[in-house]
Amino acid sequence: MTFLPTTAEEIKALDWQQADIILISGDTYIDSPFIGIALIGRILAHAGFKVAIIAQPDTDSDRDITRLGEPRLFWGVSGGSVDSMVANYTASYKHRNSDDFTPGGHNTRRPDRAVIAYTNLIRRFFKNTKPVVLGGIETSLRRIAHYDAWSNRVRKSILFDAKADILVYGMAEKTIVTLAERLNQGLDFRNIPGLCHAAANPPEHPFIELPDFNSVATDPDALIAMFHAFYQNNDPITAQSLVQRHDNRYLIQNPPSALLSREELDHIHDLPFTRSVHPYYQSQGKVLAQDTIQFALTTHRGCYGECNFCAIAVHQGRTVISRSPDSILREAQRLTKHPDFKGIILDVGGPTANMYGFECPKKIVKGVCQHQRCLTPKICPTLKINHQTQLKLLRSLRALPGVKRVFVASGVRYDLILADRAKGLSYLKKLVAHQVSGQMKVAPEHSQDQVLALMGKPGINPLLEFKHLFE
Ligand code: SF4
Repeated sequence: MTFLPTTAEEIKALDWQQADIILISGDTYIDSPFIGIALIGRILAHAGFKVAIIAQPDTDSDRDITRLGEPRLFWGVSGGSVDSMVANYTASYKHRNSDDFTPGGHNTRRPDRAVIAYTNLIRRFFKNTKPVVLGGIETSLRRIAHYDAWSNRVRKSILFDAKADILVYGMAEKTIVTLAERLNQGLDFRNIPGLCHAAANPPEHPFIELPDFNSVATDPDALIAMFHAFYQNNDPITAQSLVQRHDNRYLIQNPPSALLSREELDHIHDLPFTRSVHPYYQSQGKVLAQDTIQFALTTHRGCYGECNFCAIAVHQGRTVISRSPDSILREAQRLTKHPDFKGIILDVGGPTANMYGFECPKKIVKGVCQHQRCLTPKICPTLKINHQTQLKLLRSLRALPGVKRVFVASGVRYDLILADRAKGLSYLKKLVAHQVSGQMKVAPEHSQDQVLALMGKPGINPLLEFKHLFE
């Protein structure tokens, strides 16, 4: 297996005149399904495009950004796996010294507001260049006007702040491949689901107009109304187009891309990731993130927990898509053949480990409910919680030749365990006996019911009940 190219020598060895797409990332290049830029790169390469990656380019010179030349179709820009302001600063606004996604572990390679910094870098050294397409979590969460804690003000959509051409939001696999195909064929891309673009006028098709940037920047009620409409229009089955005026231009947000099917998600995990750091970056120092992701497995994506402080609902969505057990076992078997594998699978999980393997049948067909939540204030009876599939999966993983231990390091929702009268207790027992490396991760967040309710979390009683069971 080989990496996607990141040096001029690799491009030459591949006999490419030019890359079709160059992806820029605020993280180093770890060729892993856990790393968004690697995943998007692999999917585009599988679709037939020549894809190269420049990780953590120097923003003070042309040294990195020009080393592969200009792409034929577009630049893709991501701040990395974490919003660059979150990666660079603590909640009390102190600069973070360490960075798990930078070789050597020192936080010296990721600029603040990396998406904006990288777009400026491209434009500084490539005049009138190919479209700059923004993606990744930093872009996704800043796609409309938004409150920014670090500058303590409402900022414009990052599409305007970065002066980019196109923005793709959410997990974006389908969106980016369709965009690449349209650009390759010279076709109009503006109606692709999961995409935002700027326009001089609102579209002719139906849309919901959000309060404009100037109102939300000055009026908290308008900001709340904007966010509510934004949040309500985030399910691919029910969402409408959103439009928001920024001065004399309009941000057009198309409805989200259709969720991946189980087969499509399985397929992504079958792509030929090396699960290693590209040698060009590996030579610059150890990448600490590898300690947690190199031998871990993603079982699903999406989360219907809807904690009010969490970003996952508006990025991955509130519908859980679970991979097939066969696909996960195949990936685990590949891990066992990796020369560095020592027999321990460090995590089997997703945003919430025990949401694997079941979903609300109504949601699958009609989309998320607009006026009630799946888990709070109490668990919806339509959601048939069942830990059986995960229990079976964990048992099969433990039985694989070459596997000594299998851990669940992702967070576990204890309210789901308590609500599963048939299998919850046996799930907890197996988890404690086999799957916990030292500490089980639960996230009670607080002890006061009033605060928990504001957070969208279950009250304190389920935690106490769980503690009793655990002990
Ligand atoms: S019916 Fe219940 S479980 Fe299903 S989406 Fe609505 S709130 Fe969630």
